[in-house]
Amino acid sequence: MSRLLREERMGRTALLTQNLVPGKKVYNEDLLQRGGSEFRTWDPFRSKLAAAVIKGLPGTVVGEGGKVLYLGASTGTTISHVSDLVGPGGLVVGVEFSPRVAREFVERVARERMNVIPFVADARDPSKYSVAKVDVVYCDIAQPDQTEIAIANCAALLKPGGTLLLVVKSRSIDVLKDPERVFREEREKLVAGGFEVKTMIELSPFEKDHALIYAVAAK
Ligand code: SAM
Repeated sequence: MSRLLREERMGRTALLTQNLVPGKKVYNEDLLQRGGSEFRTWDPFRSKLAAAVIKGLPGTVVGEGGKVLYLGASTGTTISHVSDLVGPGGLVVGVEFSPRVAREFVERVARERMNVIPFVADARDPSKYSVAKVDVVYCDIAQPDQTEIAIANCAALLKPGGTLLLVVKSRSIDVLKDPERVFREEREKLVAGGFEVKTMIELSPFEKDHALIYAVAAK
């Protein structure tokens, strides 16, 4: 059975991830039994990755056993689901530069989940969290230069042919520009950086003026 389930409920798609720590909630998600295992509901209004999956990102991009570098862990809502998806044989390295926020991430998520390693560090300096190379870099740091930061992290820590998932918040990059143009320009930076862009998913109605770019590094 997959660690990610989709269910149709009243004409809407609901996502569930298999709970790595049965009996434990991370936020106010529901815990449900499916096929003899416990799953957690994954809310696309609280997680841009869930929104992207509902809008067509292949669920297999973050697969069982995968190693993920997650930039912008925040308090750990999305990362907890990434931890569910990669499962006990996978690993998630979570980087967050705000000590106050990182403390909450550790208390709520990293302490309970043996496949999550927290780092209080600035994503501008990947040497601070040098880990073995990963299969996926996920970047959601809402900084004007985040595409450059994501590319630098991929150069340092992503396996050849690995996946970059980049969340683009147009207002963090340029409040005055049309969001579509901002998304296009960030996409072009990735192509110029040698990535193949597989798809770019605009995240409305779950998040306004956000897109997620799914790109693959050169082999
Ligand atoms: N990905 C999170 C989720 O879905 O649960 C939300 C991330 S939030 C939009 C952005 C986070 O990135 C904030 O917690 C912020 O403190 C962190 N951040 C911003 N710039 C950063 C940097 N240079 N290095 C590390 N973390 C950073």
